Amino acid sequence: MSAECYPVAKAGGLGDVVGALPKYQCKAGHFAKVVMPMYRTKFLYTNDWVVDYKGSAYLGEYYFEFTIIKEKTNKLGFDLYLVDINGLLDRETIYGYNDDPQRFIAFQIAVLTWLSSWQHNPDVIHVHDYHAGLIPFMVKNCFIFRKLAFVKTVLTIHNAQYQGNIGWDKYHYLPAYDSFKWGDLDWNNNINPLASAIKCAWKVTTVSQSYMNELRYKSNGLEALFEFEKGKCVGILNGIDNEVWNPETDTYLTNNFSVKGVTAGKKKNKKKICEEYGLDETLPLFVFIGRLVGEKAADILPNAFKNVLYHQAGKASYMILGSGDKYVESQLFNITSSNIGYYNTFIGYDEALSHKLYAAADFLLMPSRVEPCGLNQMYAMRYGTVPMVRRTGGLIDTVTDMGDWEGFGILFNHATVDDIAHSIYRAIEVYKNKTQMERMRKHMMQIDHSWESVVEAYTRVY
Ligand code: ADP
Repeated sequence: MSAECYPVAKAGGLGDVVGALPKYQCKAGHFAKVVMPMYRTKFLYTNDWVVDYKGSAYLGEYYFEFTIIKEKTNKLGFDLYLVDINGLLDRETIYGYNDDPQRFIAFQIAVLTWLSSWQHNPDVIHVHDYHAGLIPFMVKNCFIFRKLAFVKTVLTIHNAQYQGNIGWDKYHYLPAYDSFKWGDLDWNNNINPLASAIKCAWKVTTVSQSYMNELRYKSNGLEALFEFEKGKCVGILNGIDNEVWNPETDTYLTNNFSVKGVTAGKKKNKKKICEEYGLDETLPLFVFIGRLVGEKAADILPNAFKNVLYHQAGKASYMILGSGDKYVESQLFNITSSNIGYYNTFIGYDEALSHKLYAAADFLLMPSRVEPCGLNQMYAMRYGTVPMVRRTGGLIDTVTDMGDWEGFGILFNHATVDDIAHSIYRAIEVYKNKTQMERMRKHMMQIDHSWESVVEAYTRVY
């Protein structure tokens, strides 16, 4: 159960995981199904659907009707169900409405009403993030869902910053429950769906082990809860879709390459990008790809680039692909005119360009303040690009420093201009060592981050 699933509706990493994990679970012989809200997305209008169930329920005093539709052709590799609640879920975008609490509570009530009508109970209900976080509580404690009371629930946390806090004045939206259990909903005098799911789910997972450890001292108010519940918490790294992210077959690339031909292959891709963006192809190419937001430490990037463009003048080229905070966007863009030949930006979202940059770059910069798992560094590694990352969350679990045994990346401790500048200096130095560069590239391209191995870890949790 999730609010997102790629390619139906995606806002971030959550969508990628929910779109891939069940596909590989089904390939491994399990029956994994996905149920999510029906938004007005392109996917809805360009695919065929059958009605699976029609029902009704109460959201507090409001009676509502809902329809569960199922995608006809099993296009995604698993059964996909959408919950249609007229006027509540059928919006243009996923989040950002004043009535989001009501929308997601109604979604959860509808799903449990539907599941209660099944002849057999599912073995496990796997919920993702706070949007489905009230499920473990409702399954256990709501009288109308008594049939499901012993169904095991698993919560996966993709980002603990967002917890979906709701005031207690909205408690009546939940179906009647054993009122002695109100404490399982509460955190700091609010109904906190994420906290409630951590308390009530049988198992809790996050998308990397290091992020799991971090949550016990930095999780937007839930530190004590993570400490208390650590016994049932597990960190499982996300996988990447090796069919989509494969430098040998990637159709966005003009020059495909394999592990064997990585040096020559990357050089050709780099030449193309450098010609297109007016950069010097003989210099090491650094790229940043991502959302320009505080979590990614995008706010310090303009100063960091100004610093290295001055202190390491003429020694490297830089290319930025990103969108987000308007002020950061304009600051990053403004550096361009005074550094022609060495620095360029593409402000916006461009899937094709991102593939080309992973293939062309020598180094990928990720100074993230928070990174539950991080996909960029894994894509970069798959394309033989050295990741330069801050020691946080999933970045710790996926990147080793080139100074360590068989290391292939550059790690630094702080999201500061100094640490970034120092890392770029290290990178410029190592770039001169062709043998070392080739060893690192070949090593990281062969690391297995496939979903097949991730599925096993989830099966153990179930
Ligand atoms: P998050 O989910 O926090 O944004 P991740 O590292 O998990 O971070 O995933 C980011 C994904 O979005 C990657 O696939 C990355 O290539 C892609 N991406 C981010 N910004 C852009 C952009 N401006 N253009 C193209 N792709 C982007």
